[in-house]
Amino acid sequence: MEFDTALAEAWVRAIAVAVEKEQGRLTELDSAIGDGDHGSNLRRGFTAVLTALDALAPDSPGAVLTKVGGTLISKVGGASGPLYGKAFRALGAALPGPAGPAAFGEALAEGLRAVQALGKAEPGDKTILDAWAPALAAYREAVAAGADLPRAAGAAADAAEQGALATVPLQARKGRASYLGPRSVGHQDPGATSTALLFRALAEVTAEARG
Ligand code: ADP
Ligand code: MG
Repeated sequence: MEFDTALAEAWVRAIAVAVEKEQGRLTELDSAIGDGDHGSNLRRGFTAVLTALDALAPDSPGAVLTKVGGTLISKVGGASGPLYGKAFRALGAALPGPAGPAAFGEALAEGLRAVQALGKAEPGDKTILDAWAPALAAYREAVAAGADLPRAAGAAADAAEQGALATVPLQARKGRASYLGPRSVGHQDPGATSTALLFRALAEVTAEARG
Protein backbone atom coordinates (compact mmCIF):
# COMPACT_ATOMS: atom_id res chain seq x y z
CA MET A 1 0.00 0.00 0.00
CA GLU A 2 1.28 3.44 -0.95
CA PHE A 3 0.60 6.96 0.19
CA ASP A 4 -0.96 8.30 -3.01
CA THR A 5 -2.92 11.38 -4.05
CA ALA A 6 -6.26 10.03 -2.80
CA LEU A 7 -4.76 9.18 0.59
CA ALA A 8 -3.17 12.61 0.84
CA GLU A 9 -6.56 14.23 0.25
CA ALA A 10 -8.25 11.87 2.69
CA TRP A 11 -5.61 12.67 5.30
CA VAL A 12 -6.05 16.41 4.96
CA ARG A 13 -9.84 16.15 5.12
CA ALA A 14 -9.57 13.96 8.22
CA ILE A 15 -7.28 16.53 9.86
CA ALA A 16 -9.85 19.24 9.10
CA VAL A 17 -12.57 17.15 10.78
CA ALA A 18 -10.35 16.49 13.82
CA VAL A 19 -9.44 20.17 14.15
CA GLU A 20 -13.11 21.13 13.96
CA LYS A 21 -13.97 18.60 16.65
CA GLU A 22 -11.04 19.41 18.95
CA GLN A 23 -10.74 23.15 18.45
CA GLY A 24 -12.33 23.87 21.84
CA ARG A 25 -9.82 21.66 23.61
CA LEU A 26 -6.87 23.13 21.70
CA THR A 27 -8.01 26.62 22.56
CA GLU A 28 -8.47 25.66 26.20
CA LEU A 29 -4.92 24.30 26.36
CA ASP A 30 -3.61 27.46 24.69
CA SER A 31 -5.59 29.61 27.16
CA ALA A 32 -3.63 28.05 30.02
CA ILE A 33 -0.13 28.76 28.69
CA GLY A 34 -0.62 30.95 25.62
CA ASP A 35 -3.20 33.34 24.18
CA GLY A 36 -6.08 30.94 23.60
CA ASP A 37 -6.10 30.93 19.82
CA HIS A 38 -4.54 27.62 18.80
CA GLY A 39 -7.88 25.94 18.06
CA SER A 40 -9.26 28.89 16.14
CA ASN A 41 -5.97 29.36 14.28
CA LEU A 42 -5.99 25.79 13.02
CA ARG A 43 -9.69 25.87 12.32
CA ARG A 44 -9.30 28.97 10.16
CA GLY A 45 -6.35 27.37 8.40
CA PHE A 46 -8.00 24.05 7.62
CA THR A 47 -11.27 25.67 6.56
CA ALA A 48 -9.23 27.58 3.98
CA VAL A 49 -7.39 24.38 3.10
CA LEU A 50 -10.68 22.61 2.31
CA THR A 51 -11.74 25.46 0.03
CA ALA A 52 -8.36 25.39 -1.72
CA LEU A 53 -8.55 21.60 -2.14
CA ASP A 54 -12.00 21.82 -3.71
CA ALA A 55 -10.54 24.03 -6.42
CA LEU A 56 -7.51 21.80 -6.99
CA ALA A 57 -7.21 18.75 -9.22
CA PRO A 58 -4.03 17.37 -7.63
CA ASP A 59 -1.97 14.86 -9.58
CA SER A 60 0.36 13.84 -6.75
CA PRO A 61 0.37 13.60 -2.96
CA GLY A 62 2.94 16.37 -3.01
CA ALA A 63 0.56 18.70 -4.86
CA VAL A 64 -2.03 18.24 -2.11
CA LEU A 65 0.40 18.74 0.79
CA THR A 66 2.22 21.68 -0.81
CA LYS A 67 -1.15 23.40 -1.21
CA VAL A 68 -1.93 22.72 2.44
CA GLY A 69 1.39 24.25 3.48
CA GLY A 70 0.99 27.37 1.41
CA THR A 71 -2.56 27.88 2.62
CA LEU A 72 -1.60 27.53 6.30
CA ILE A 73 1.26 30.00 5.86
CA SER A 74 -1.01 32.59 4.26
CA LYS A 75 -4.09 32.11 6.49
CA VAL A 76 -2.80 31.39 9.99
CA GLY A 77 -1.26 34.24 11.91
CA GLY A 78 0.04 32.45 15.00
CA ALA A 79 3.36 30.69 15.37
CA SER A 80 1.68 27.43 14.38
CA GLY A 81 0.71 28.67 10.89
CA PRO A 82 4.23 29.10 9.53
CA LEU A 83 5.49 26.05 11.46
CA TYR A 84 2.82 23.67 10.17
CA GLY A 85 2.85 25.45 6.82
CA LYS A 86 6.54 24.80 6.30
CA ALA A 87 6.13 21.26 7.57
CA PHE A 88 3.42 20.49 5.00
CA ARG A 89 5.40 22.16 2.23
CA ALA A 90 8.38 19.98 3.14
CA LEU A 91 6.16 16.89 3.17
CA GLY A 92 4.83 17.93 -0.22
CA ALA A 93 8.28 18.46 -1.69
CA ALA A 94 9.30 14.99 -0.49
CA LEU A 95 6.28 13.29 -2.08
CA PRO A 96 6.38 13.99 -5.84
CA GLY A 97 4.65 10.66 -6.41
CA PRO A 98 3.06 7.79 -4.50
CA ALA A 99 5.29 6.65 -1.65
CA GLY A 100 5.72 3.36 0.17
CA PRO A 101 6.15 3.21 3.96
CA ALA A 102 9.88 3.98 3.97
CA ALA A 103 9.64 6.92 1.57
CA PHE A 104 6.72 8.33 3.50
CA GLY A 105 8.86 8.11 6.64
CA GLU A 106 11.52 10.18 4.92
CA ALA A 107 8.85 12.78 4.11
CA LEU A 108 7.83 12.86 7.78
CA ALA A 109 11.48 13.45 8.63
CA GLU A 110 11.60 16.37 6.18
CA GLY A 111 8.52 17.82 7.89
CA LEU A 112 10.21 17.60 11.27
CA ARG A 113 13.36 19.22 9.89
CA ALA A 114 11.28 22.10 8.52
CA VAL A 115 9.68 22.75 11.91
CA GLN A 116 13.08 22.68 13.53
CA ALA A 117 14.70 24.91 10.91
CA LEU A 118 12.09 27.60 11.41
CA GLY A 119 11.36 27.28 15.13
CA LYS A 120 14.87 26.43 16.39
CA ALA A 121 13.40 24.27 19.14
CA GLU A 122 14.77 21.01 20.48
CA PRO A 123 12.80 18.06 21.78
CA GLY A 124 11.97 18.82 25.41
CA ASP A 125 11.19 22.50 24.77
CA LYS A 126 7.42 21.79 25.02
CA THR A 127 6.50 22.30 21.36
CA ILE A 128 5.22 20.51 18.26
CA LEU A 129 8.54 18.64 18.19
CA ASP A 130 7.68 16.78 21.38
CA ALA A 131 4.95 14.91 19.51
CA TRP A 132 6.47 14.84 16.00
CA ALA A 133 9.92 13.53 17.01
CA PRO A 134 8.65 10.47 18.95
CA ALA A 135 6.05 9.85 16.23
CA LEU A 136 8.77 9.78 13.58
CA ALA A 137 10.96 7.49 15.71
CA ALA A 138 8.07 5.07 16.30
CA TYR A 139 7.12 5.18 12.61
CA ARG A 140 10.66 4.31 11.52
CA GLU A 141 11.00 1.57 14.09
CA ALA A 142 7.75 0.02 12.88
CA VAL A 143 8.79 0.19 9.22
CA ALA A 144 12.18 -1.34 10.07
CA ALA A 145 10.29 -4.20 11.72
CA GLY A 146 8.28 -4.75 8.53
CA ALA A 147 5.11 -2.76 9.28
CA ASP A 148 2.92 -1.52 6.43
CA LEU A 149 1.77 2.11 6.24
CA PRO A 150 -1.33 1.79 8.48
CA ARG A 151 0.56 -0.08 11.19
CA ALA A 152 3.48 2.32 11.13
CA ALA A 153 1.09 5.28 11.21
CA GLY A 154 -0.73 3.70 14.15
CA ALA A 155 2.55 3.38 16.05
CA ALA A 156 3.35 7.00 15.18
CA ALA A 157 -0.04 8.20 16.43
CA ASP A 158 0.34 6.33 19.73
CA ALA A 159 3.81 7.83 20.20
CA ALA A 160 2.60 11.33 19.30
CA GLU A 161 -0.20 11.10 21.86
CA GLN A 162 2.24 9.90 24.52
CA GLY A 163 4.63 12.67 23.53
CA ALA A 164 1.89 15.28 23.88
CA LEU A 165 0.98 13.94 27.34
CA ALA A 166 4.65 13.99 28.29
CA THR A 167 4.80 17.76 27.70
CA VAL A 168 2.78 18.34 30.89
CA PRO A 169 5.75 18.41 33.32
CA LEU A 170 7.99 20.33 30.89
CA GLN A 171 8.83 24.01 31.11
CA ALA A 172 8.33 25.76 27.77
CA ARG A 173 11.51 27.12 26.23
CA LYS A 174 10.10 28.29 22.89
CA GLY A 175 7.05 30.24 21.77
CA ARG A 176 4.58 32.24 23.78
CA ALA A 177 4.38 29.69 26.63
CA SER A 178 8.08 30.28 27.38
CA TYR A 179 7.20 33.79 28.62
CA LEU A 180 5.52 32.07 31.59
CA GLY A 181 8.75 30.41 32.67
CA PRO A 182 8.11 27.85 35.43
CA ARG A 183 4.39 28.62 35.33
CA SER A 184 4.21 26.76 32.01
CA VAL A 185 4.84 23.52 33.95
CA GLY A 186 1.79 21.36 34.61
CA HIS A 187 -0.04 22.03 31.33
CA GLN A 188 -0.16 20.06 28.10
CA ASP A 189 1.30 21.85 25.09
CA PRO A 190 -1.37 22.82 22.53
CA GLY A 191 0.91 22.38 19.50
CA ALA A 192 2.09 18.93 20.56
CA THR A 193 -1.58 18.07 21.04
CA SER A 194 -2.55 19.19 17.54
CA THR A 195 0.42 17.26 16.11
CA ALA A 196 -0.98 14.14 17.77
CA LEU A 197 -4.26 14.85 15.96
CA LEU A 198 -2.41 14.92 12.61
CA PHE A 199 -0.82 11.54 13.26
CA ARG A 200 -4.05 9.99 14.57
CA ALA A 201 -5.82 11.17 11.40
CA LEU A 202 -3.06 9.56 9.31
CA ALA A 203 -3.46 6.27 11.19
CA GLU A 204 -7.22 6.34 10.65
CA VAL A 205 -7.25 7.12 6.92
CA THR A 206 -4.50 4.63 6.11
CA ALA A 207 -6.26 1.90 8.12
CA GLU A 208 -9.51 2.72 6.32
CA ALA A 209 -7.83 2.63 2.92
CA ARG A 210 -6.39 -0.81 3.65
CA GLY A 211 -9.89 -2.00 4.59
P1 ADP B 1 0.80 31.54 18.97
O1 ADP B 1 1.73 30.98 20.00
O2 ADP B 1 1.46 32.51 18.04
O3 ADP B 1 -0.47 32.03 19.58
P2 ADP B 1 -0.53 29.06 18.30
O4 ADP B 1 -1.28 29.26 19.56
O5 ADP B 1 -1.34 28.74 17.11
O6 ADP B 1 0.42 30.28 18.01
O7 ADP B 1 0.48 27.83 18.49
C1 ADP B 1 1.13 27.60 19.72
C2 ADP B 1 1.96 26.32 19.61
O8 ADP B 1 3.01 26.52 18.66
C3 ADP B 1 2.65 25.93 20.89
O9 ADP B 1 1.81 25.16 21.72
C4 ADP B 1 3.87 25.16 20.42
O10 ADP B 1 3.60 23.77 20.36
C5 ADP B 1 4.07 25.64 19.01
N1 ADP B 1 5.33 26.38 18.91
C6 ADP B 1 5.57 27.65 19.30
N2 ADP B 1 6.85 27.99 19.04
C7 ADP B 1 7.43 26.90 18.50
C8 ADP B 1 8.75 26.60 17.99
N3 ADP B 1 9.70 27.54 18.02
N4 ADP B 1 8.98 25.38 17.49
C9 ADP B 1 8.01 24.45 17.43
N5 ADP B 1 6.74 24.65 17.88
C10 ADP B 1 6.46 25.86 18.41
MG1 MG C 1 -1.78 30.88 20.66
